[in-house]
Amino acid sequence: MSRVWSGGCACGALRYEITGEPIVMTDCQCLDCQSESGTGHASHLVFPSKDVTIPEVATGWEMTADSGKKKTRHFCRTCGSPVFMTFAATPDILTVRAASLDEPERYRPQMVTYASRGWAWDHLDPNVPKFAKMPG
Ligand SMILES: [Zn+2]
Ligand SMILES: [Zn+2]
Repeated sequence: MSRVWSGGCACGALRYEITGEPIVMTDCQCLDCQSESGTGHASHLVFPSKDVTIPEVATGWEMTADSGKKKTRHFCRTCGSPVFMTFAATPDILTVRAASLDEPERYRPQMVTYASRGWAWDHLDPNVPKFAKMPG
């Protein structure tokens, strides 16, 4: 048995515990992740949705991605920390933000998505494979 993936927002009002394992961990440099995070990329763990309960203290807003698909970014109503993202087209998966983990050191980026949007000042590990957009 692996350890639970626990975490929450910056103020502590929003907490989660996930018993499953992440499908993949990705740094995303898309312009949406940039503007929403206020920096060069967002770091996401992708989990099966069935393993995650988004707490009621979260609230969300829907946006249309580059791809034309809808996604909803869920954040803490009190402190505004972004924590989850869900996808209308693929409801079976969702993402959790790496720095929301109680143990952020467990995050190991396996790929960089939308590297074509990245800035020179947002220098990421050169050993992590980079995709111009979203692979697959
Ligand atoms: Zn909060
Ligand atoms: Zn992104």
